[in-house]
Amino acid sequence: MIDVHCHLNFHAFEKDYDEVIKSAFKAGVTKIINVGTKIDSSFRAVEMAQKYPQLYAIVGVHPHHADKLEAGWELELEKLAKNPKVVAIGEIGIDYFRYKSNSIVDPKLQKETFIKQIILANKLKLPLQIHNRLAGKDILDILENHKPYLLNPPGMFHCMSGDLDSLKKVLDLGFYIGFDGNITYSGLAPGETVELKELVSYAPLDRIVTETDSPFLTPEPMRGVKNRPEYVIIIGEFISKLRGINFDKLRNQTTKNVKKIFSI
Ligand SMILES: [Zn+2]
Ligand SMILES: [Zn+2]
Repeated sequence: MIDVHCHLNFHAFEKDYDEVIKSAFKAGVTKIINVGTKIDSSFRAVEMAQKYPQLYAIVGVHPHHADKLEAGWELELEKLAKNPKVVAIGEIGIDYFRYKSNSIVDPKLQKETFIKQIILANKLKLPLQIHNRLAGKDILDILENHKPYLLNPPGMFHCMSGDLDSLKKVLDLGFYIGFDGNITYSGLAPGETVELKELVSYAPLDRIVTETDSPFLTPEPMRGVKNRPEYVIIIGEFISKLRGINFDKLRNQTTKNVKKIFSI
């Protein structure tokens, strides 16, 4: 199994990342992609990817940090993105959820930062890894308006949410879909109208990839402890059960899908 989106580059793993990485590979994880959310965590993701052969990095500025950028960030990001272990620009997008730790960043600023990074990704011929929370419509509008900048395939939506209509539009644009441990939670997430399980049932198998978003979104039955990349196997098992297919088939298919998006 491959974890296409986690944050071992975050402080939460400062002390145990080496143990966590080794334990994931022992459990059957074959590749791990660490994702930056601002310049310093992107730098750290690249640094870690250089240390372990099966680790890769995605670099970018998350919408939460769009209001805290320093002058010259685009050049720094471009420099980082040129590292051969960098496989995409992300996590980028729009977020309209009011978190306790982060109020909603000015939407205009979020959109500008998102668009600048779509253009950068095109310049470097890298796919996108998109973060969307309660902002599907605005994200899809921007992607539609920037179609000439999208690669084929254009990338993936990480931690998919939203309704079936937006899932269809995301698929029509050619994006792949990432599912996390929150697909194992019952009920609706705040602000959502459709259970994630419905999206998992609808998404074509040849467009699904698996991810953990560690240290967040720990799947059941481990919920309550810090998430880690090896729990991607629990997510894979959950998807294969829900779709009524054999786990090996799901693992092989998602591995193929990862290769199509990121060439790894
Ligand atoms: Zn995210
Ligand atoms: Zn994330």
